[in-house]
Amino acid sequence: MAAKKTFEYAPAPESRAIVDLKSSYGLFINGEFTDGSGSTFKTINPASEEVLAEVAEATTADVDKAVRAARTAFTRVWSKMPGSERAKYLYRIARIMAERSREFAVLESLDNGKPIRESRDVDIPLVSQWFFYYAGWADKLGYALPGNGHSGANPQPLGVAGQIIPWNFPLMMLAWKIAPALAAGNTVVLKPAETTPLTALLFAEVCQQADLPPGVVNIVTGAGATGQAIVEHADVNKIAFTGSTAVGKAIARSVAGTDKKVTLELGGKAANIVFDDAPIDQAVEGIVNGIFFNQGHVCCAGSRLLVQESVYDDVIERLKRRMTTLRVGDPLDKNTDIGAINSAEQLARIKKLTAVGDAEGAERWSPPCDLPSNGFWFAPTIFTGVTQAHRIAREEIFGPVLSVLTFRTPAEAVEKANNTPYGLSAGVWTEKGSRILSVASQLRAGVVWANTFNKFDPSSPFGGYKESGYGREGGRHGLEAYLSADPAAAERPPGRRTKGAHR
Ligand code: NDP
Repeated sequence: MAAKKTFEYAPAPESRAIVDLKSSYGLFINGEFTDGSGSTFKTINPASEEVLAEVAEATTADVDKAVRAARTAFTRVWSKMPGSERAKYLYRIARIMAERSREFAVLESLDNGKPIRESRDVDIPLVSQWFFYYAGWADKLGYALPGNGHSGANPQPLGVAGQIIPWNFPLMMLAWKIAPALAAGNTVVLKPAETTPLTALLFAEVCQQADLPPGVVNIVTGAGATGQAIVEHADVNKIAFTGSTAVGKAIARSVAGTDKKVTLELGGKAANIVFDDAPIDQAVEGIVNGIFFNQGHVCCAGSRLLVQESVYDDVIERLKRRMTTLRVGDPLDKNTDIGAINSAEQLARIKKLTAVGDAEGAERWSPPCDLPSNGFWFAPTIFTGVTQAHRIAREEIFGPVLSVLTFRTPAEAVEKANNTPYGLSAGVWTEKGSRILSVASQLRAGVVWANTFNKFDPSSPFGGYKESGYGREGGRHGLEAYLSADPAAAERPPGRRTKGAHR
């Protein structure tokens, strides 16, 4: 028999020359970049630990300045502008994002560590699509609220939206937040995550390029304290947050007793259920995509694989074979499947929870893989022999780590899938359409994918049950979070006021 040959890939690096990286960045307030009144922090490339830039850390006073700019833009310009005019700005932003997509993709991969294949083919195209989609809604808001299916309805924007986003899909989360808010006539103050501020700051340049009126979009960089200052600001009408369940709960406590509207998109521990009649090779692709896409830094990742016992051996064997072909390394190489872990802190969290998996008796397996010496890396990993009591079956690891469980009957699959405090997403793999419908209707998850996984579309609502949060982003539903049926909604102050805050 001929010896098995392995074919090495030649390096295929994407050039970073397209990105004009500045050594330092200020805050984007009222249409201009301005120095913050506080200190600065460094943002690094997690694949090399190279410092990319110094970024301003917004203080409470800076946040106040941004909120005032947003309020002025809201009352004087944006809420008064006809929807068809607002749409023109959103279309313009969408087109610029498409034109500058390569620049954004490279910068996203540099700052976040995700493979260029994903930032180029998934994140940035979706950003552009999100703005196109909501541009189309801006002059049809009469149809946006449930029961208001007629053009005579006149829902109103809420006012100033405070938006806090995480590091796993920095620009995509920005688009999910800003596009519907602006379409509905709100203005925004957005805080990107501390480890991934750069594409949001480049987006600020796009706002300038699109001639967006000053103050409609404000970007304040910083850490948790900056986010908290936005949440607690008395003149913010709505908070939209994506991130950890712990911070989501703290935000919910903080706004309790005020009139602020809140949407929370939090963690997940999704079940990806493979029945014995599923096309196994296709399911294996879906399993790989479900957990190794974006290094598993995905709130809706299929991090719990539930396999029907009769096909367990076959699925695991094919999955392991497929995993040996995954290429881990330089995010800017076009052949890379799995990039860098976003930060030292996140890597430590992954290592800690996987050590718990070992200690609790689950069996760990990773393909042989050379990890770079600098930067933050974790090999794609599966744990078999996992039971529902194991912490790796219950807690969000947020890394390239899959916990594998088994089941015998559809009822058992549903029971195990729902046995989680979360409820963001799930996957079902089967040839039978009737089984898809039956199982999907019993799963307590905001999104259920059938014979696919991790598919996103701007027209499709996304959000969770239980500790995965509340409210929906995307589609018509995504507008509900930014509109009120009450014609006087935007005239009223948001509720409890703090000293020093002005309208
Ligand atoms: P966080 O929830 O801390 O971060 C999300 C965003 O909230 C960031 O912009 C963060 O700022 C900001 N923030 C932090 N503290 C506060 C606060 N008190 N008030 C307002 N805003 C705040 O997530 P982590 O980055 O700490 O990740 C921890 C875990 O959370 C992960 O391991 C993962 O399990 C989960 N996670 C889930 C996400 C999801 O999409 N559902 C996304 C990210 C994380 P800063 O970046 O400066 O801390």
